[in-house]
Order: sequence, then C-alpha cells, then structure tokens
Amino acid sequence: MKKKLGLVYGGKSAEHEVSLSTATAVTNAIDFDKYEVIPVYITYEGEWRKGEPLAAPAESIEQLRLAREGGKPDCIQDFLNGNGTPDIILPLLHGTNGEDGTVQGLFEVMNIPYAGNGVLSSSAGMDKVIMKQLFAQVGLKQVPYVHFIRNQWNKDQNYWIEKMEKELTFPMFVKPANLGSSVGISKATDHDSLIKAVEFALKFDRKIIVEQGVTAREVEVGILGNDDPKCSVLGEIKPVAAFYDYEAKYQDGNTELLIPAPVTDKVEATLKDMAIRAFKVLDCAGLVRADFFVTAQDEVLINEINTMPGFTPTSMYPLLWQNTGLSYPELIDKLIELALERHEEKK
Ligand code: ADP
Ligand code: MG
Ligand code: MG
Repeated sequence: MKKKLGLVYGGKSAEHEVSLSTATAVTNAIDFDKYEVIPVYITYEGEWRKGEPLAAPAESIEQLRLAREGGKPDCIQDFLNGNGTPDIILPLLHGTNGEDGTVQGLFEVMNIPYAGNGVLSSSAGMDKVIMKQLFAQVGLKQVPYVHFIRNQWNKDQNYWIEKMEKELTFPMFVKPANLGSSVGISKATDHDSLIKAVEFALKFDRKIIVEQGVTAREVEVGILGNDDPKCSVLGEIKPVAAFYDYEAKYQDGNTELLIPAPVTDKVEATLKDMAIRAFKVLDCAGLVRADFFVTAQDEVLINEINTMPGFTPTSMYPLLWQNTGLSYPELIDKLIELALERHEEKK
C-alpha cells in the first residue's frame, strides 16, 4: 500500500511564499508510485486547508494553489478525528509557526511522524539569541552581539544605543530574533540608521539582536542524519547585493553559488566540526543547514543554523547534497526514512 504523505506548506509566516516554491519543487521530486500525496495548505491567516490527494507532481505553484482552493477548511479537526490522517508529514514551512517548533508540537501530540527537526531544536534554532547562547556553551566562535526586547527599548532607548555603540562597531546587522530569509534585517552604518534599523526590525518581532558586521565570505554546509549526522560538501554564496537579502535569496537570480566552496582543507575541517557541534547542542534531527562566515584570515565564525532550509530549485541545501552524491528525490526519501526512524525511537 502507498504511504499517505502529507505535504504541509504555506503558513502564517513572512516566509509563506518561499514555502510555496519549496512545496512545488518537492512534489516534483516525490515518487507517486510510492506515495499518495495529500496537500495541506496553511493560509496567511493560519487556516488549514486539505486538498484532494494529488495524482501527479505539482508542476507549478498554480497546481498546488488549486489543491488548496478546493481544500476543505479546518482540516486539523479531521486529523484529530483520524480522518485521512497522513502516515507521515513533510512540514515544508519556513519561519514562524512552522520552522519554530509550534507545528512540530502539534504533530507530536497527534503522534504522526514528521520530517526534520523536533520541537526543541526547531524553536531554539528559530530564536537567534537562544541559538547563539547555546553555541557559546560549546565554545563555537561567533560575532559579538547585543540583544533586547521591545519593552526594554521603549523604556530606555538611549541606554541600548550607547551599549551597542560601545560594544560593537559599525556596520552592524540589526535582526528580528525570530525570522529567516533575511526578512526585517538591515545593515546599520551609523547612529541614525541604527535607530531606523531597530525600529524596522521591531515591526517583525519583540526581540531584537544587533550584531557586529563582519567582512567575510559566506560558506554553508548541509547536515543530514539523526544521532550520527553527516556533512555535505561546502558551498559558498556570492551575493551581488550589499548582503544576502530576501531578493538575493529568492528573486534576483544573480547570486552565485560555488559548490564545492574553494576553501583550504583546514577551514573545511574546522567548519564541519563546528557544524556537527552546533547540530548536537541544539539536539537537531533530520536536516540542518549551518551557515558560517570565513574571514580573509581564514577565521571561521558560525552565523546560524536553519532547521528547515530552503528547498527551492535554487536553494543551497539540496544542491549541496546533489554535489555530495544524493539526488533531490533520494534526499527526500532519506528525510522520510530519518523521520520514521526518529518516530520509532520515541516509542
Ligand atoms: P536569516 O536567518 O534571515 O538568513 P542571517 O543572520 O543569516 O538571517 O542574515 C542574513 C544575511 O545578512 C546573511 O546571509 C549575511 O549576508 C548578512 N549578515 C547577517 N549578519 C551579518 C554579520 N554579522 N556580518 C555580516 N553580514 C551579515
Ligand atoms: Mg536563518
Ligand atoms: Mg541566513
């Protein structure tokens, strides 16, 4: 019998659109002889809609859109009642309410195996402050930073500005703590732009992190596995924009990806070792993309990990594995296998 594979995409998140591209690419790669694919679309408002099972790969976002528009609203209730509940779920969601452990918690409670990271690693990985505090615990080198919440900023803006200007130097990167895809991030080059950048980031989150900007190459590695995770080859991103912003990631097509990344053996070994330590300290499972800065002096700093990295056709994570010898369909199979293995272990 075919396994029922729930494809959960969209989401109440600033990264909704990215998820649509991911879902399209993933359905293209699924073996429809092996799986019955059930599209589950989460609207911008957070409503769940279950479409009819797909009979063939969705060749475009349009096709998935049809599945979702005809969808039956409120399918969580259906799932809870055991009606058409998938055997396994691929949560192809980025950002809040999807990559942050919330949806993972729901699947845990429903006792459905799901691909990728669990509750703890997803939520810790979504919060850049918590993530950095955990990295520090295992001695991973990273850039200096200052963090605060909206309430602290509103009470004493001058205190925080002084602290940032004392502890960090321009340029600084101002980020909402809980997002991805560069949404809400800006580069501050002076006092005035710093205040503007904080006000902008506060539109997206109540928690802000301000980092020391570094001039460095951006090198990434894919990690795949559960208790014995493996690293892919390394990849380097060469954004044409001022930094790797949302447009550069998904829209302009100008960003160059170098796979494998031209780094020394020493840098490669250091980076992979740091990546595995990062994966383990957050107790990750399934997949992670770990992102690093490599300076001109070959110093390796960890920037972040992403617990549900992009899976669009131009995304780094699948390309890294392709270059390591694992095709896109094989990668999906592997993620499903790892999800089932993790689910068994919990019993
Ligand atoms: P996201 O989770 O949204 O991808 P990142 O922390 O990776 O957020 O930041 C997005 C991009 O901004 C990075 O890929 C990099 O190009 C740039 N950037 C972020 N932080 C720094 C920093 N401290 N120094 C230099 N560039 C940075
Ligand atoms: Mg990220
Ligand atoms: Mg990033």
